[in-house]
Amino acid sequence: MSDRVLVVTGGSRGIGRATALAAAADGFDVVFSYVSDAGAAESLVAEIGAAGGRAVAVRADVGVEADVLALFAAADAVGRVAGLVNNAGVVDRAARVDEMTVARLERMFRINVIGSVVAAREAVRRMSTRHGGRGGAIVNLSSAAALLGAPGQYVDYAAAKGAIDSFTVGLAREVAAEGVRVNAVRPGIIDTDIHASGGIPDRAEAMRGAIPMGRAGTAAECAAAVLWLLSDAASYTTGSIVTVSGGR
Ligand code: NAP
Repeated sequence: MSDRVLVVTGGSRGIGRATALAAAADGFDVVFSYVSDAGAAESLVAEIGAAGGRAVAVRADVGVEADVLALFAAADAVGRVAGLVNNAGVVDRAARVDEMTVARLERMFRINVIGSVVAAREAVRRMSTRHGGRGGAIVNLSSAAALLGAPGQYVDYAAAKGAIDSFTVGLAREVAAEGVRVNAVRPGIIDTDIHASGGIPDRAEAMRGAIPMGRAGTAAECAAAVLWLLSDAASYTTGSIVTVSGGR
């Protein structure tokens, strides 16, 4: 049994994939979820295995509680859960608030907020010394949108990420004396598929001029911040939100 299992939600692509790769290279056994792209998930398992690591892919929608429970059951079968990266997140098509349906809002908050809270609940139940655990770390994926508001694009997404910021600070303080650190990474514009899923495939390139460093970030640059927050090098850091945005 592994002594160092990392659960990553939404690990098949983008920032979650880069995080899974970096964590496996760092010695974690990685259990990650995906929803639609089984081929991408399988190829990541193979890539990590070929490099001498171990990864398990689980089809699990973080917006469905039973799926989150199944993801953690799979992690328990691998070993001791030592960390969680709440990475799974979605945007929607650009729209003004006066156009948004309740169905859209429910999906946005169910996946981006409730999914992260439920996954964190399962991680705390395993890692907190209050529950007999041996400690661990949780890293949530926020967004620069939480500060900028994303007007005319997706204010609902920005509000959901604002909730992630509050959740990060609150949970960090709630479990600080129980061996569990809780932090967040706040990416700016990162070059992943998420922009295409919001109907703006060239968004990372189009936004270059608004980024002081003059370029979008990479998934690996976000993963590096996630790995630092998971590591003992961040042993006195909790309730923090690390911005990875090229100065934006
Ligand atoms: P991405 O490229 O769209 O990848 C999303 C990942 O999440 C995929 O592995 C996808 O699985 C999975 N996923 C989607 N819905 C899910 C659900 N309901 N349950 C479980 N997994 C689900 O996204 P990304 O750009 O890497 O973003 C990762 C995180 O960073 C998100 O929380 C996002 O909000 C945040 N973020 C990204 C940016 C950016 O510019 N990219 C900026 C700020 C914040 P499938 O492949 O199987 O669909």
